[in-house]
Amino acid sequence: DQIEAPRRIRALHEDVVNKIAAGEIIVAPVHALKELIENAVDAGSTSLEILVKDGGLKLLQITDNGCGINTDDMAILCERFTTSKLKAFEDLTSIGTYGFRGEALASISHIAHLTVTTKTADSSCAWKAQYAGGKLAPAKPGQSADPKACAGRQGTQITVEDLFYNVPTRRRAFRSASEEYAKIADQVGRAIANELIEFELSNAQYGFKTEGLVSNANYSGKRTALLLFINHRSVESSTIKRAVEHTYSTFLPKGGKPFVYLSLEIDPARVDVNVHPTKREVNFLNEEEIIELICGDIRTRLGKVDTSRTFMTQS
Ligand code: ADP
Ligand code: MG
Repeated sequence: DQIEAPRRIRALHEDVVNKIAAGEIIVAPVHALKELIENAVDAGSTSLEILVKDGGLKLLQITDNGCGINTDDMAILCERFTTSKLKAFEDLTSIGTYGFRGEALASISHIAHLTVTTKTADSSCAWKAQYAGGKLAPAKPGQSADPKACAGRQGTQITVEDLFYNVPTRRRAFRSASEEYAKIADQVGRAIANELIEFELSNAQYGFKTEGLVSNANYSGKRTALLLFINHRSVESSTIKRAVEHTYSTFLPKGGKPFVYLSLEIDPARVDVNVHPTKREVNFLNEEEIIELICGDIRTRLGKVDTSRTFMTQS
């Protein structure tokens, strides 16, 4: 038998290397979304809007109200290893942001159609750009690839379309859009879960005990999410809602609203049952005092929580 001569060693084309690297970082739509959420948080955003189509395979769009991106940085934004979060290797020990390797946007730009619209506080307008393969790309063939001025609010909107359009093997590996969507819903749920404080309080004088989960000062929603249960029945209370909003107003940015889940158990004798069965608003004895105790406790807990971000290791 004769041994075959070795094949020659060749450098992979840069484009192939980048696509392989991208596929390792972004395996499913949820991974792209996770990176984008972390970028938005790193940019100081207090509110995020997320849009998903076909489990994120058709569209993933995330709009934040963070610091935005300087127009001058837009040209290198999606190159590999470009970041505003790390300068020297030593910085790794003190880093307080989630991402720092500058690979997320680069990866996405290699395997999806990526559009970035962004506005900083000192820019009079927003800027919009398309990316492909790590570089600025024209929106339509023949057009300039340079960022274009447009209208927009402070912050950044990242649009990821047709994820894995150029990686057919990966694309075929997805069984269903709803499965990918479930992963996304779980990820977004956890983003809020990280910012919840457990809550517990009981009081003999007014005969109640309560437990729940309330958002901390890092979380700021557009509307108050109040999930209120009195004696295990889902009810509404505009008084409690107003009091809770008032409590959070000193902790959240202007217009920011909390997420509050409260389960309140009160001696049934103290709850006004004489209300119409379709009416979800309830009244109970010593309402004012009980609400003040609850809100006072929330206030103390919010004040205690260290809202600085913890260091996350990445490997
Ligand atoms: P990394 O987060 O590791 O720095 P990324 O590729 O995720 O790398 O992002 C590259 C850079 O783009 C970030 O360092 C940041 O400066 C900027 N950037 C990305 N997303 C946002 C955003 N939503 N708001 C402001 N800047 C952003
Ligand atoms: Mg990042």
